[in-house]
Amino acid sequence: MSAYTELLAHERQTQALAQVMGRLGWDQETMMPRGAAGQRAEEMGALEGVLHARRTDPRIGDWLSAAEPPDAGGRATLRHIRRSYARHTRVPAALAEELARVTSTAQGIWAEARARDDTAHFLPWLERVVRLRREEASALAAGGDLYDALLDDYEPGATAATIGAMFDRMRPRLVDLRAALLAAPNPPARLKGEFPREAQLRLARLLAETFGYDFTRGRLDLAVHPFSSGSGADVRITTRIDESDPFNCLYSTIHEVGHAAYEQNIDPAHALTPLGEGVSMGVHESQSRIFENQLGRSRAFTGWLFARLQTEFGDMGLDGPDAFFATVNRVSPGFIRTEADEVQYNLHIMLRFDLERALIAGDLAVADLEAAWNDRFMADFGVAVPRPSQGLLQDVHWSIGLFGYFPTYSLGNVYAGCLMQALRRDRPALDDELAAGDLSGATGWLRDAVQVHGGLMTPADTIARACGFTPHEGPLLDYLDDKFRALYGV
Ligand code: ZN
Repeated sequence: MSAYTELLAHERQTQALAQVMGRLGWDQETMMPRGAAGQRAEEMGALEGVLHARRTDPRIGDWLSAAEPPDAGGRATLRHIRRSYARHTRVPAALAEELARVTSTAQGIWAEARARDDTAHFLPWLERVVRLRREEASALAAGGDLYDALLDDYEPGATAATIGAMFDRMRPRLVDLRAALLAAPNPPARLKGEFPREAQLRLARLLAETFGYDFTRGRLDLAVHPFSSGSGADVRITTRIDESDPFNCLYSTIHEVGHAAYEQNIDPAHALTPLGEGVSMGVHESQSRIFENQLGRSRAFTGWLFARLQTEFGDMGLDGPDAFFATVNRVSPGFIRTEADEVQYNLHIMLRFDLERALIAGDLAVADLEAAWNDRFMADFGVAVPRPSQGLLQDVHWSIGLFGYFPTYSLGNVYAGCLMQALRRDRPALDDELAAGDLSGATGWLRDAVQVHGGLMTPADTIARACGFTPHEGPLLDYLDDKFRALYGV
């Protein structure tokens, strides 16, 4: 066997085991009996050990230096394996183990602290997480920027400098737009009515099918925090039900279907290879966001959706599809990132990006983080954070060591803006299709332009090739201005 063939066979088994590990994680959030938590932690730890040993197997280094890739796909495959091997071998095993142990405890402490609004309970653990991630970043960066080394894990090729510059260009237009919307007379109404659980679940399944989710290679279950997991022939999604607010269930379902469609639509030839999953968190998020927002919250599609909701829920206190469109896109002040509207969402990310950059650079001490958060929130949103669970403690990310992850949400929004511009260019009748509840044209375009390629190209090239232009924030900002200024009449 050639070095290339041996390397791929090794990689295939590693990928298969990683899929098993992911399914254990899915089970933990959906089906696992409460009493199994201790044993599950040990099972996951054992599997993680096997995966780490496989990913740092010294034979990979030998195979990599001898391998001759047969084609462009082979070259991309080697690029991914070389990158993974470098990252896994640069971090000392003891540090990787300590990080896993500390973040697992820190996540539990964070959940307690958030429930009790007790920042002091969490900060000593956050301090340990930051210290370990900085150590890891120095091992990975090899003299380069620490934050970039972490960011590179989630968005290969992106740097804090380019993202920071992009945010500087985005902020003034978003702030202006928000000021105009919040000052507008007659803001959209809220939904009224009863939204029974079974009806919400029926609609969630209908929406998943409408957006092209393949239930023969997936399933929909309930979880506390909605997510999508797996790739290839087994891609599962979850949702949650709030009986006072059906949008929570319906739009988180559409969002997760965007992630899942990406994984389900990758060329099957890439399955269980490094090309067989979404290429980056930013590109992944672009798929979930364009499904949820540009398509799912469009005037055309919400007209179709309004009729479906009326059938299930009756009156809802709204005059008609125009009022429903306004309600779906209501912009209002709020503290919570995950509940933020399209206009304000990226401002929440900018706050986190600047604070976590300062933490990793060593310019901000964990002890000063809460004050820094609250000052910044006041400066950016004009309101005082009433309690830590609505401020610093709202997100799980930092407790589990996810530094450099937040900006990928905004990159996803920016990419989604670019893709929507290209989709409208290529499908002039798009709104007629959406108004008829026919998503096949849009989802088929995304499948062929983006999803099928998996990890074949770099993240930025994946989007550039799909759009026919270099991705930038302009299309997103134009879309937000056009949509919301028309909707609010400002
Ligand atoms: Zn997402």
